Amino acid sequence: MTLHDTYDSTNIFAKILRGEMPAVKVYEDDTALAFMDVFPQAEGHTLVIPKDVEARNLLEMPPEKLGPYMLAVQKVTKAVEAALKPDGLVVTQFNGAPAGQTVYHLHFHVIPRNEGVPLGRHGAGGMADMGELEKLAVKIRAAV
Ligand code: AMP
Repeated sequence: MTLHDTYDSTNIFAKILRGEMPAVKVYEDDTALAFMDVFPQAEGHTLVIPKDVEARNLLEMPPEKLGPYMLAVQKVTKAVEAALKPDGLVVTQFNGAPAGQTVYHLHFHVIPRNEGVPLGRHGAGGMADMGELEKLAVKIRAAV
């Protein structure tokens, strides 16, 4: 998949937005949905995706929708910090396969980091236990 291509509405995040696939959700408003990453690079790894857009990456995001979406990214980042009290947080986003992107609906990763705990490899970790993800989600939801 190249950096510039047509939006594929069968991508996994579009399916989550339509309710066709499950997700452990932590936050939702008119512009964004946040849920736990099922292949987390660290405990509490959360994704924030925009709603009602066909933007595969940051370059394709309509500028007028970017501000409200980024406010949601910040809100979720603050909630993850308040809930899990990590030493630091990575907030990142990939554009195109060579940059590391694997799902072609714009998303930001919010990844808690702790001293001495190595970051898991992007897209190479094991699937999380759903019960453990739900326990983390309960804390994050309460902190939004
Ligand atoms: P990227 O590689 O930047 O496109 O990020 C895609 C992210 O989506 C990866 O971190 C995956 O672990 C995550 N992911 C893939 N499928 C799902 C899913 N069904 N639910 C939650 N996260 C997912």
